[in-house]
Amino acid sequence: MDQGSVSPHVLIFPFPIQGNVNSMLKLTELLCLAGIQVTFLNCHYPHRRLLSYSNIQARFSRYPGFRFETISDGLPMEHPRTAEQFLDIVDGVKTTTAPLFMEMMISWCRSASDTRSPLTCIIADGLMSFSIDVANEVGLPVIIFRAISACSFWAYFSLPQLIEAGEVPFRGGDMDRLVASVPGMEGFLRRRDLPSCCRVKDVDNPDLQNPMKNIRKTHGAHAQVINTFDDLEGPILSQIRNHFPRTYTIGPLHALLKSKLATETSTSQSSNSFWEEDRSCIPWLDRQPSKSVIYVSFGSLAIITKEELREFWHGLVNSGSRFLWVIRPDALVGKDEERQTPAELLEGTKDRGYVVGWAPQEEVLKHPAVGGFLTHGGWNSTLESIVEGLPMICWPYFADQQINSRFVSHVWKLGMDMKDSCDRVTVEKMVRDLMVEKRDEFMEAADTLATLAKKCVGDGGSSSCNLNSLIEDIRLLST
Ligand code: UDP
Repeated sequence: MDQGSVSPHVLIFPFPIQGNVNSMLKLTELLCLAGIQVTFLNCHYPHRRLLSYSNIQARFSRYPGFRFETISDGLPMEHPRTAEQFLDIVDGVKTTTAPLFMEMMISWCRSASDTRSPLTCIIADGLMSFSIDVANEVGLPVIIFRAISACSFWAYFSLPQLIEAGEVPFRGGDMDRLVASVPGMEGFLRRRDLPSCCRVKDVDNPDLQNPMKNIRKTHGAHAQVINTFDDLEGPILSQIRNHFPRTYTIGPLHALLKSKLATETSTSQSSNSFWEEDRSCIPWLDRQPSKSVIYVSFGSLAIITKEELREFWHGLVNSGSRFLWVIRPDALVGKDEERQTPAELLEGTKDRGYVVGWAPQEEVLKHPAVGGFLTHGGWNSTLESIVEGLPMICWPYFADQQINSRFVSHVWKLGMDMKDSCDRVTVEKMVRDLMVEKRDEFMEAADTLATLAKKCVGDGGSSSCNLNSLIEDIRLLST
């Protein structure tokens, strides 16, 4: 690499899960398009999955300043990585990746190297808060990347006040009680809408302490980037900017990248999937009437019991709607053989339903046959749905999804929140409401937000301008 080049060089470091790697790869490509050199530091597991199931290597080969580096996350490759083992990933990253990253950065920054050009800054996932210590040690600025919504970030940020006021933690009790200690959300945020880490017995529980420590630490960052847009979360962003003045909102990143690729090159983008995409669902969708299909997917980490699966299945079938359902190979609770999707369910879906192990989701959501999304409310899925103007039913599983789903239903009026229940009668009613009975109610908000989302990533739009400011900020750091 050209050592004399004045082009900045950024190290991007995601937490090793699908949603975070996915959105940070989009950011990476946007920076590459702006002529910034990027090293993408990926943990071995997501890296191997990407190499197996996506074409990222070919896609990024067109950017001469781009390279991958890999690092261990401390877990064996075959370790299960669903939400059940989420804390294993957190622990592995803390105990193995953090010290390795320190060694790597010290050797990179303190010894001259022919193969690596000097770094300008690190863009680290908000879940990799140890990057702040590492960067301080080697004298580099850090920009924190939030793969979550501003509203959920703000709730996490407010945890100390929630605890101080005695509103958190809680275990059971009246889950519909309103909470008062998240500024700006006083009138509608219920206990059940808080991040799932609040659902613990005592305040010392690491589930609650870890996110608080993480966020406290990232306060020392040079800036932060949030994958959201101003028209969606303006009031909350104003609160956040009082504490983090240099907050760049550049989402929805997938739409921003699409818009830049459309104007600057003819290359089409592809997925960053960790699983093999079953593309047979596209010809199936082609055969369905317009807006007749509800797409069902609970993301890359959520797991469900067989009982829940049956309730969803009966609810979907009884609703009369057509459905395309993603059931990941590791989506069912239990050991290997118990994980099989019951054959009678698959048989019974034949006429109006289609089941795949993993779908090309962005393409599915934009397909004319798809009219709604039954989602877990993961932030990437929520943004992808907003951009396509699709109303949603949210069945949040954990973490930030609890609050995203409240915003989808109560604040953005984009659909319904099914949190904490999934009996067949509720599923049937909500699917009918979403696809037929109350469709008009939700479509008005969905159309409005889709238009705003598209506007913000176009020329002169807020996310497009904020990306330019971020790039300018990075360039200034390199001078
Ligand atoms: N996704 C996909 N195919 C699927 C299911 C999900 O490509 O069958 C992608 C989806 O488009 C999104 C990501 O996986 O970008 C999931 O991220 P999200 O934040 O929604 O949820 P998480 O997996 O982190 O719970």
